[in-house]
Amino acid sequence: MHHTKTPQPRALGDHTWRDRAACSSTPHHQVDPELFFPEPDEVDRIREAKTLCAQCPVRRVCLDAALENGDSAGIRGGMTEEEREPLHKKLEHRLDYGRVNEVLAGRDIHLTKAERRAVARAAYQAELPASRLAWLLKITEEHAEKLYRRTRREIRNRAVEEEEKVDKTPRSQPHALPVREDLGTAA
Ligand code: SF4
Repeated sequence: MHHTKTPQPRALGDHTWRDRAACSSTPHHQVDPELFFPEPDEVDRIREAKTLCAQCPVRRVCLDAALENGDSAGIRGGMTEEEREPLHKKLEHRLDYGRVNEVLAGRDIHLTKAERRAVARAAYQAELPASRLAWLLKITEEHAEKLYRRTRREIRNRAVEEEEKVDKTPRSQPHALPVREDLGTAA
């Protein structure tokens, strides 16, 4: 059963990636943190910081963390704040099924609204209990049940729309599948 399995380490609360950052200072390798907060015209500093980022083993997670935390200041993940700006804006509308699946597998990843809905939909279709969805999305069970009710309504509405479409098309078209009322745990 899914919910009895020990989840994988949760990624967001885990900041150990910072220890592997190419920009973190060690006794043998001092890095000036100010290097990562250049003015837009300080091209040499920008180049220097980006060179470190290019060799950094945690560049991707660093960039994701900056975007997820809305951390728009300074150079992160090899990108200046000006370069990252459109990504911060785009993030609100992101629907990345890879991330949705990671959350379903128990990882702690910050999702957009659209991705959280996709998790609820997938959990509902997999008939996961509301308590599991609550754990995955870090919400109350009551909230999870509400999400399931909404998901069930959405699925039903979509099926009705499909049926209406089918009614208007020639008879040779197959009918939409009936909605399964027994899915999910919602009341
Ligand atoms: S990608 Fe750049 S800013 Fe991010 S941790 Fe690595 S070196 Fe530091």
